[in-house]
Formats: sequence, structure tokens, C-alpha cells
Amino acid sequence: MNKRIVILGGGTGGTLTANRLRRMFSDADITVVDRDDTHVYQPGLLFVPFGLIRPKDIVKPRKRQLRSGIRYVQCDIDRVDIDGDRVHLTDGAVLDYDVLVIATGVRLMPEETEGMTGPGWMRNVFTFYNLEGASGLERALSAFDHGRLVLNVVDMPIKCPVAPLEFCFLADWYFRRRGIRDRVELVYVTPLDGAFTKPVASRELGNVLQRKGIELVTEFNTGQVDGDAGRLISYDERTVPFDLAVVCPLHGGADFVGRSSGLGDELNFVLTDQRTLQSTVRPNIFAIGDATNVPTSKAGSVAHFEGDVLAHNIAQFLAGRPLDAQFDGHTNCFIESGHHKALLIDFDYDTEPLPGHFPLGVGLPLLRESRLNHLGKLAFRWLYWHLLLPGRDIPGIASRMPRAGKRFETISQ
Ligand SMILES: Cc1cc2nc3c(=O)[nH]c(=O)nc-3n(C[C@H](O)[C@H](O)[C@H](O)COP(=O)(O)OP(=O)(O)OC[C@H]3O[C@@H](n4cnc5c(N)ncnc54)[C@H](O)[C@@H]3O)c2cc1C
Repeated sequence: MNKRIVILGGGTGGTLTANRLRRMFSDADITVVDRDDTHVYQPGLLFVPFGLIRPKDIVKPRKRQLRSGIRYVQCDIDRVDIDGDRVHLTDGAVLDYDVLVIATGVRLMPEETEGMTGPGWMRNVFTFYNLEGASGLERALSAFDHGRLVLNVVDMPIKCPVAPLEFCFLADWYFRRRGIRDRVELVYVTPLDGAFTKPVASRELGNVLQRKGIELVTEFNTGQVDGDAGRLISYDERTVPFDLAVVCPLHGGADFVGRSSGLGDELNFVLTDQRTLQSTVRPNIFAIGDATNVPTSKAGSVAHFEGDVLAHNIAQFLAGRPLDAQFDGHTNCFIESGHHKALLIDFDYDTEPLPGHFPLGVGLPLLRESRLNHLGKLAFRWLYWHLLLPGRDIPGIASRMPRAGKRFETISQ
């Protein structure tokens, strides 16, 4: 009998895994399950509020991103029976598997913060983390001609942790272009103790905020969002007033993970070996992308680098051999900073984002604003649809983090 591989989630990680496995196993039965047929290029959501891209230009049908011979099932997932090796869908259908890959990403949970989805929601409180919010925010931003715009990250982890910073940088550019920057206060409110998680990048990105006149409020743990009064209130009772709030709500894993005994942690992220990408609960369950609990960023680039390791290890598993491919936590993110410039960060589990160049001693500048990086950010959209999702390698860029070009001596400075 052909091996049955079921992939839950047809986003970035699920699609690229299905396409890689299809090329490797012409005789396996590969099934992808997703609840809808709308694949959003999520990095494009950043540009929607500023009118730099239209929502319809970042959306394609999911099914069409899958190679022929891959079965696509459109339905919500109810739960995984990890002892019976089967997935239950909400329409009552059951899918049996030999190997299961979980790629169901994150769930945005704005309702978990008191008041966030209250009367202000989509009026003076928005998120750009989904298509509906990003489109609503575009209308609100174009009508905004003075006041205090506050960007609030409620808690970590969030997907693409640099996206909120990019939003602030672009907002600075946007209001300057409209000639009203002096009438708008920009404030970045984060639960972290600096602009970013890792010290060297936090210092550099903090400097960019300062240069652009964006106020930084740190160690703010949002307990309540009061849209009517226009204020954020922290658990330790500090307040931050706003006229327009842009929030990155709490993130968790998919609900069905919580209904699948033993599969996930307390936030419903799948318990995953950070090197092999095998789940720690069953050897025939693997996970990729935002759905895992591995300690690196939740980013499309991570899913891409993981895809190589994952496909190899699934092949090893099916052949009864040891899982010998190891994911190093490699993450690579462009940080759009406005005025046709961007920064680039590249890191792994052990190496924080450092200055230097990528991928070698010459190449794109790391942790420094440049036009070249901006062009890289724009090119990523084409790479996403034509190389990442089809599960192809990007020429010259391996899944392991390159060390050449990085200035390690900056860590001690
Ligand atoms: C504003 C923004 C900017 C970003 N910018 C960048 C960037 O510049 N660079 C970068 O690398 N990354 C970026 N990212 C992050 C990147 O988009 C994600 O990390 C990546 O898409 C994760 O892929 P994934 O497969 O894990 O999850 P997703 O692509 O989100 O796919 C998960 C899929 O699972 C499905 N699903 C979930 N639950 C169920 C269920 N119960 N039943 C059926 N289907 C279900 C969903 O419908 C979805 O299709 C950005 C994200 C955002 C929001």
C-alpha cells in the first residue's frame, strides 16, 4: 500500500512541504487540509495600510500552489487521534495517516485581551496581521491627519517579530510624505526591555526608532485596551493614551491542537524537537513553521529553511533510518524602514543578529539600512510564490545559517 502522508495546513509551511514530498515520493498519497482556499502572502500585509499594495495582489488560491497529484481537502480540523493515527475533520470525515505533518500556523487571539475587541475594534483599534484588519487600517490611516498613533505588541511570541517595528518606520515615512509628520506622535509599546529581543539588534533598531522620532515604551504588559477612552492599560496600571491603536494581539497555536491530547503546550504550539522537527509525542508526527514550539522566530523564511530538513527526515523515517538532518534555527528577515530602504537580519538558535554582510563577506548589508535590502524585500514576494512555495532552494542560500560575513566581535562591544 502507498504511504499516506497527511499535511494539516495549506499555508507557507504546509504547501512547501507537500510540494517537496511530492517530488521525492511519486508513489505516496499526499493530502493537504485547510479550512479555506485563500492563500495570503502575509509579508504583504505590512504594505496594505499604507496603500503600497492592494489586498488582491497578495492573495492566490491555495489549491493552485500544490503540485499535481496532491489531494486537497477543504475543511476545518477537529482533532488528531495520536493513538489511532487519524485526523478527524469537522464535517465528520476521517483521514488515516502513516506520517502527519502539522503546519497550521498561529491563531490570533485579540479577544483574550480585555476590551481589545470592544467598541473601538476596527474603529480606533486595528491589527494589520490579517487581511480584514490591514484593509480597515488603510481607510483609518488615510483619514488620520493628527494625533497619537500607538503600536502595541501585547506579548511574545508573535509571527514576524520585526513587522511591528517595520510598521512604525513606514508610518514615519507615510506621514512625512503626506506633510503632516509634525502633527502625528508615533509610539512603539512593547513588553520587551528594548526594541527587539536580542541585544545587538535591539540597540541598532532602537537607534533607528530614535532617529525617526518614534517614542519607545518598554516592559509594558497590556492588560486592557479601552477604545472609548483611547488608552492602553498595563497589568501594573501604567497607561498609554492613543487616538489610533495598532495592535499585535496575543498569538496561540490552532485550537484543535488543544483538543488533541498530548500534542501541544499550554499555548497549543506543537511539542517539537528543535533539531529534527519530529514531534516529541509520536515519531510519525512532524511539525513545521509557526505551529511549532521551537525557540526561533515565527517567519516564512524559517518554514522555508525547515522544509529542507523536514522532507529529508520524513524520508529517513519512512525508510526506517535515523533522522540525521538538523535544523539550526536559521531565520532571515528584511526590515523595511521607509524611504526605499531596509535592514536585514540573519541568525540561528546560537547566533544573534549581527552586523556584517549576507550571505558571504560581500553581499547584502546586515543590520544597516540600505537600498539593496529594500530591493531584496520587494524581490521576496516573487521568491515566495515561485521558489519558496514550490519547495525549491534559493540559489546561493543554504538552509544552514552562513557564518562568513558576520562580525562576531560586535557581541562584546
Ligand atoms: C504582517 C506580517 C508580516 C510578515 N512578514 C514576514 C516577512 O517579511 N518575512 C517572513 O519570513 N515572514 C513574515 N511573516 C510571517 C510569515 O508569513 C509566517 O511565519 C508564515 O506564513 C508561517 O507559515 P505557516 O505555514 O506556519 O502558517 P500559515 O502560512 O499561517 O498557514 C497556516 C494554515 O493553517 C490553516 N489552519 C489553521 N488552523 C486550521 C484548522 N483548524 N483547520 C483547517 N485549517 C487550519 C490556516 O488556514 C492556514 O492556511 C509575516 C507575517 C505577518 C502577519
